[in-house]
Amino acid sequence: MRKQIAAANWKMNCTFQQGEKLLCEILDADIKLADHQLTIFAVPYPYLLMTRSEVEEEWNYVAAAQNCHHKKAGAYTGEVSAEMLHSMNINYCIVGHSERREYNQETNAMLAAKVDLCFENYITPIFCCGEPLAIREAGTQNHFVAAQLKESLFHLPAEKIKQLVIAYEPIWAIGTGKTASTEQAQEMHRFLRSVIAAQYGEAIADEIPILYGGSVKANNAKEIFGCPDVDGGLVGGASLVGADFIEIIKALK
Ligand code: PEP
Repeated sequence: MRKQIAAANWKMNCTFQQGEKLLCEILDADIKLADHQLTIFAVPYPYLLMTRSEVEEEWNYVAAAQNCHHKKAGAYTGEVSAEMLHSMNINYCIVGHSERREYNQETNAMLAAKVDLCFENYITPIFCCGEPLAIREAGTQNHFVAAQLKESLFHLPAEKIKQLVIAYEPIWAIGTGKTASTEQAQEMHRFLRSVIAAQYGEAIADEIPILYGGSVKANNAKEIFGCPDVDGGLVGGASLVGADFIEIIKALK
């Protein structure tokens, strides 16, 4: 059975104290996850150890980084490497979020390097892809998103690609309150799976969790997660409100 994942992306939000309180509120809800279900908290770097220790006793709750650098190590002031994350027992990392692609000029080639460094350090990349509004309006979203996968992931051998998590996040739906319809989400997730299947075969494509991201809320999570090819969500805004994220975790299938 494919993993179903509720992933919180806190971005650059919450003080340390607010973050601790939010985590405790969610963990105190004591939601029992099935073996195939996972909740991920992608928190700011300085909160990783606190988050890791809060979830330590919990079954299927993990801490994740929001990014890592595309170089192994060296003179890159202020950056954090995949090796550093591994040395802190962090096993998940978001790679290629659209905000980093836009504000930090991250290219598909840089993301390919990050994915490799994650795997070298036993970290599961949560690889983000998704098209801007102009591309959606031009109707070329499939071509655009397929190129993101091909250029950043298709150098990987089968045994590696099947370990990653993909998040499809249409940029026009991130933080805008505008969610893709369930038909749009299902159609794109199905398409992404077919692109992977064409390269690696159906069995591998069927194993990879593909999360939807873009204004997932407590009141629409169940409907979105109900799509056959949607395996949960990467959630920004609503992951900062304890009661809302609790409902989103409960919406996992
Ligand atoms: C995100 O940033 O990954 C995201 C999906 O944000 P939001 O849920 O706020 O749209």
